[in-house]
Amino acid sequence: MHKIDEKLANVTARIAHAAKIANRNAASVALLAVSKTQPAHRLREAYQAGVRRFGENYLQEALEKQNELNDLDGIEWHFIGPIQSNKTRAIAEHFSWAHSVDRLKIAQRLNDQRPTTLEPLNICLQVNIDNEPSKSGVTLAELTTLAEGVAQLPNIALRGLMTIPAPNAAANEHHPNSFARTAAALKQLKLALPCSPLDTLSMGMSADLEPAIASGATIVRIGTDIFGTRLT
Ligand SMILES: *Cc1c(COP(=O)(O)O)cnc(C)c1O
Repeated sequence: MHKIDEKLANVTARIAHAAKIANRNAASVALLAVSKTQPAHRLREAYQAGVRRFGENYLQEALEKQNELNDLDGIEWHFIGPIQSNKTRAIAEHFSWAHSVDRLKIAQRLNDQRPTTLEPLNICLQVNIDNEPSKSGVTLAELTTLAEGVAQLPNIALRGLMTIPAPNAAANEHHPNSFARTAAALKQLKLALPCSPLDTLSMGMSADLEPAIASGATIVRIGTDIFGTRLT
């Protein structure tokens, strides 16, 4: 088992290589270290190796780690798990980003509960790009209406789209890949909402960061390939 700094160097090199092949600047792809189920000391190790953005899926666990790591300057916390109504206040108060918003009601609560002393909460709308029945996310058919509603909220910055493709969708040659279709949806949305800062495509995980970057990902969410296999 390699140490976090070696794994991180390997992921960073993969990002740089994928960006180069896509004719993109590697600095246009931000690394979000997905630290769900990892104890605080593992995040501290990643921080010492240079990581500043951490993605968490479970609110209670995230709040505990934020507390334990409050001596570290400059961490940016991203919430990437499903958001129920009873979690919005803590997310609005303790995170810089939420990637998994798929309903207007949730966005409105985050807006109302965002402390005005903080910058607007950065939000990505999660898109169920392959129309999977059991998966969270707004459908493409409903995306524009949702985005128009979210764009009105003063304490929210609508930054872009997040997606998790269906298993094997990226390898399915019979329909254009899920990442490319998400990128096309963002482009459409920019035309509909020219005043929103729509600059973000949150897509790509350990197994598929390369095709995501080829399609324009600006945030890749990497867990396993930084921290190792999750035990829980
Ligand atoms: C767990 C998780 C990831 C990271 O997945 P890995 O395959 O471990 O890199 C990324 N995004 C979301 C939404 C996750 O829940």
